[in-house]
Order: sequence, then structure tokens, then C-alpha cells
Amino acid sequence: MAQSLKILFLSAEVTPFAKTGGLGDVSGSLPIALRAMGHDVRVIMPAYQNIESGYPGVEPIPVRLDVPVNFGDIPTGVFQGTLPNSDVPIYFIAEWHLFNRPDLYGYWDDPYRFAFFGRAALALTAVLDWRPDVVHAHDWHAAPAITWLATAGQSHPHFQGIPTVFTIHNLAHQGKVSWEIFDYLGIQTHSLVEEAYGEVNFMARGIYHASIVNTVSPTYAREITTSDGGAGLDGLLRHRQYDLHGILNGLDYDVWNPATDRRLAANYDVDDMNGRRHNRHILQEKANLPLRDDIPLVAMISRLDWQKGLDITGRVIHLLMNNFAGDAQFIVLGTGERHYEQMFARLASYHSGKMAAFLDYNAGFAPMVYAGSDLFLMPSLFEPCGLGQLIAMRYGSVPVVRATGGLADTVQEGITGFTFNHYSEDAFWHALQGAIHIYYTDKESWHVIQHNGMTADFSWQRSAQGYRQLYEWAVAKK
Ligand code: ADP
Repeated sequence: MAQSLKILFLSAEVTPFAKTGGLGDVSGSLPIALRAMGHDVRVIMPAYQNIESGYPGVEPIPVRLDVPVNFGDIPTGVFQGTLPNSDVPIYFIAEWHLFNRPDLYGYWDDPYRFAFFGRAALALTAVLDWRPDVVHAHDWHAAPAITWLATAGQSHPHFQGIPTVFTIHNLAHQGKVSWEIFDYLGIQTHSLVEEAYGEVNFMARGIYHASIVNTVSPTYAREITTSDGGAGLDGLLRHRQYDLHGILNGLDYDVWNPATDRRLAANYDVDDMNGRRHNRHILQEKANLPLRDDIPLVAMISRLDWQKGLDITGRVIHLLMNNFAGDAQFIVLGTGERHYEQMFARLASYHSGKMAAFLDYNAGFAPMVYAGSDLFLMPSLFEPCGLGQLIAMRYGSVPVVRATGGLADTVQEGITGFTFNHYSEDAFWHALQGAIHIYYTDKESWHVIQHNGMTADFSWQRSAQGYRQLYEWAVAKK
């Protein structure tokens, strides 16, 4: 067996303890997959209000942790638990004033909260006398730890030479703050070209200081080195392109498995798809649509955000509902920006009897939509990795996606789904029309595509192999 590594995970959110998006899923799932490969993985996150007010299986531990900042040592509490169904330890940094708040983010002092978090997490490894072989930090919130390790940390024997991996989940949030934060952390360094005068940009710092940088799909890794996709950091990313990698997120197969998913009306698998029909009928019933098996049921589940391609969706749905590709039904489940909700509500009332819009967030209902539909739409403007298309494939709903970011890496044209490139209504419609044409005229190919999607490997085990390789490169660089 390959050498076992001590890996420290730093993340602002870890499912199930705190989650606002894909970051939480990665931080909750990847450590378990790495642990199964024999690594000693430990996770550290802040103790938010739900931890402070008592979380089953999470207990305070009796360590003395004093976190040095410019105005003195801050005595800090630590809670400990394990990731679900695993023995992976997770520690929670309990600084009441900073983290015991109703929301995870959105406070004026966020940069200070996460700077403290990073410094405290590293200090905790010294208190526990556990020196990681590699520190894996996620998004800007965990970047201050990388910056500290690369600068002030170099003069501490416990921290000297620890390599780091920095994963970008969302380049749009960069964590900008004024330069005084380096006094707070006791860091002396120079400014980066990407930083305005007197400003620190923690996302840029993570990219600059980490031994290895990655993002959550190979295509997105390339896209962010361009001025269109780089959110102002493309120059820096190009500078680091030999250390910039893309590793697809996995899907939690314990949660997303049509053979065992209890949220479905009927379970099924690739060898026996009968259950799909039953789910479809329940779904049609709930959506007030005729119970028909002979026409394509098209679905969309999405945050209703401009990133998701909704500006090219309205007219396409209108064409679809007017039978320009043959008879079809459409169901959308989503919530978000008001004008997109209104768009779907209007379309649904105009095309009632053919289409339904569920404008809320309903995690219990989403599996029924994946399991009961034939086609799943994801026309995203940009998509770092994307989960919806992976779930759709796994549940036998054939994806029609724009070939950007992780969508380009996971959906293969004509093999596991249908793709289009140009961000336009015409290109989207052309792809959807083509998919429906195959649905109607070539059932055999249709079933092969469905089968290919259901059996494709998007497991965390596979992602973990990729990360294992990054850790090795990071260690080798030091
Ligand atoms: P993002 O993280 O950018 O929203 P992803 O495709 O990575 O996009 O993940 C979206 C996840 O959220 C999928 O699991 C999808 O099923 C789920 N989801 C999105 N909107 C809803 C909703 N309204 N109700 C239930 N689940 C939703």
C-alpha cells in the first residue's frame, strides 16, 4: 500500500454540520474516501451556533488552546466529533464572539473570523502534537492558514515546511480586506499585483502561497486562466498554471442511489428500471399532468441564479411546450431570483396541463424529479463542477447541458447525454430538439445513453485518487 499521509482539512463548511453549497459536500465526503484509502485525515471547521448550542455526538475536549493575535493570546474552546459513519475526527474552533451567530457568512468581520479560524486550527495541531504532512485548505475562508504557513509559520519548527493544497470551489468570493489583517495575524509580507493599495485578497493569497492549487473540474481549471473566467485573478492563475489542476467532485453514492433512496416512491437500478415508471406517474400526478409514458418528461432542478443559464431558458421552454420538438411535458423545481421565479410561474400558467413549476427548495422531492423525468436541463453560463447532472445520470434522466466547466467534463455528447457550446437560446434549443428526436425515433440508442449515464463512475473514491496524487506532488515540492 502507498504511504499513509497525515492530512489536515480546513473548511468553513462541512456537511452535515454546516452547508451552503458544494464546498460542504466536498469537505464532508472527501475525507471519508481518503480515510478508506488508509490516510490519517482530520477536519477542522468553526463552531457555529448549531455546534455551540449542542450537536449530537459533538463534545468539548479538554485542551488548552491559546490563539496568538496581535492584541494577545485568545483562549479558545474546542469541540470534537466524527464525520458520519466514519472514524474521521472533526474539530470545531469555538470562539463565541466570532462564530456563535445565526449565519455562516455575511458579516462585516468575516475576514477576521476566518483569519482567526485558520490561525487557531494550526495552533490546535501543535497542541494535539499532530503535525500534518499536508494541509488542504478550501476556498478563501481557509486561505489565511496557507498564507500564515508560508510566511510567519516558517519560523516555527512544528510548521516549517508543511506543504499545502488550495482548492477553489467558488472564485467569485475572494475575501478582500484591508492590510491591517496581517498585523492581526503577525504576518510580514509584500503585496500582490492583484491586490489594490492597502488591500489583502485571500483568494489570491491562497493561489499565490499554496504548493498546489486545484479547482473542481479540469475544464473549469482551464477556464479560470482566461480573462473571461478568471474573476480578475487569471494572470495569477496563469502564472501558476503548472501547479493548477482540476479534480471532479464525486457524488455521495450512499445518499444518491436509486436502488436504496427512500425518498423515491419506487426503487430501481440499471438492470430493472420498472420502478422509474411508477415514480414518473407519482410525479405527473403531483404536477397535475396527464399520466403519459409516450412523451418525454423534461425537468430542471436549480438555484434560480443567472449563473445557471436561465436567461436562455425561457424561450426554449416556450418552444418545447408549443410542441416544436413533438409533444412533451416540463417540470421545474427551483427557487431564487424573483424574475426567474416569475418567468416560470407565467410559463406554467400559460402551459398548464403540460408544465408545472415548484418554486421552493425541497430536498425530499428532488429525487422524485430525477427519478421520474427523461431529460434533465443544465444550460449553465458557468459551472465549476455541478452536481445536478451527476445525480440525473445516476437516476437515469438524460442530461442536456452547456459544455462548460464540470458539465463539459462529465457529460459526453451522444454517449451519456447531450451538449451544446455557444451560450444562446438557439444552441440550447438545437441540443434539446436533437435529444428529443432520438427519444422519439431511436429507443435503442436512448436506452444505451441512459445506461451509460447510470453506470458512469462519479464516486468519491475516484476523486480521492486524484487528490492523493496532488498531495504527493505537494509533498515532493518541499
Ligand atoms: P450549485 O451548488 O451551484 O447550486 P450543483 O449542481 O452543484 O449546483 O448542486 C445543486 C444541488 O442542489 C443538487 O443536488 C440539486 O438537486 C439541489 N437543488 C437545487 N435546487 C433545489 C431545489 N429547489 N430543491 C431541492 N434541491 C435543489
